[in-house]
Amino acid sequence: MIYFINKKFIIFLACLFTMIFLSSIYINYRSVATFSDSPVEEELFFPAFNVHINDTDKVVALTFDDGPTREYTTKILNYLDANNVVATFFVLGIRLKNNDDILIDMVKNGCEIGNHSYNHKQFLYLKNDEVKKQIEYVDNYVRNVTGFSIRSVRTPYGEYNQRIKKTIDRPIVLWNIDSEDWKRKDASKIAEHVISNVQSGSIILLHDIFDFSYEATILIVEELLAQGYKFVTVSQLLELNEVNGDGIVFWSK
Ligand SMILES: [Zn+2]
Repeated sequence: MIYFINKKFIIFLACLFTMIFLSSIYINYRSVATFSDSPVEEELFFPAFNVHINDTDKVVALTFDDGPTREYTTKILNYLDANNVVATFFVLGIRLKNNDDILIDMVKNGCEIGNHSYNHKQFLYLKNDEVKKQIEYVDNYVRNVTGFSIRSVRTPYGEYNQRIKKTIDRPIVLWNIDSEDWKRKDASKIAEHVISNVQSGSIILLHDIFDFSYEATILIVEELLAQGYKFVTVSQLLELNEVNGDGIVFWSK
């Protein structure tokens, strides 16, 4: 009798595991199918335009992605503050805890905080509600700590499509000068690349997670101040922009 129950029980377990196995294959298949529904092959970038400033003022926006970090963001903030220069920090949700004072300093110094997602996942592979969660976490954290309401979003890797743009439903601000600091790894080479490409309305991309980017920031700011440039936040730049766009997106390689 006991032998019989055990045998039945084993058959039952075998059936159960087979069902679980088969349904996991099905779920996996469905999620792969969902990915191809939001194709990466679809045109990633909308026609974008550069900021057009019709002003005798020369303005430029420094932006720092992927922070904040205690090691580098603090140094950058102190340097900018000592020189009366503002910048925009596109922060990551995973870096916010234990860095409340840095966020407060950003706002206090007149800098802008932008949203760079919770953990830098590629939005093209996320469902709409996951994209929303990525954005909301950073929005809420920053608002609770600083009282500042984030206006601009920079999607991880600058990737987006029509679905992502609609889901985010606010300006996606990319850049038109990529310092490629992570690749160049040398402050003077980074600064040289930025300075030789800069023009009024430039949005410069740097990262506040490397020392060479901090060193490059000093070189860039010194040179551009000497050339008569005024530093503004991305929101200030958008206000100066003469071209009106629907859900403004700036992009340039
Ligand atoms: Zn990034």
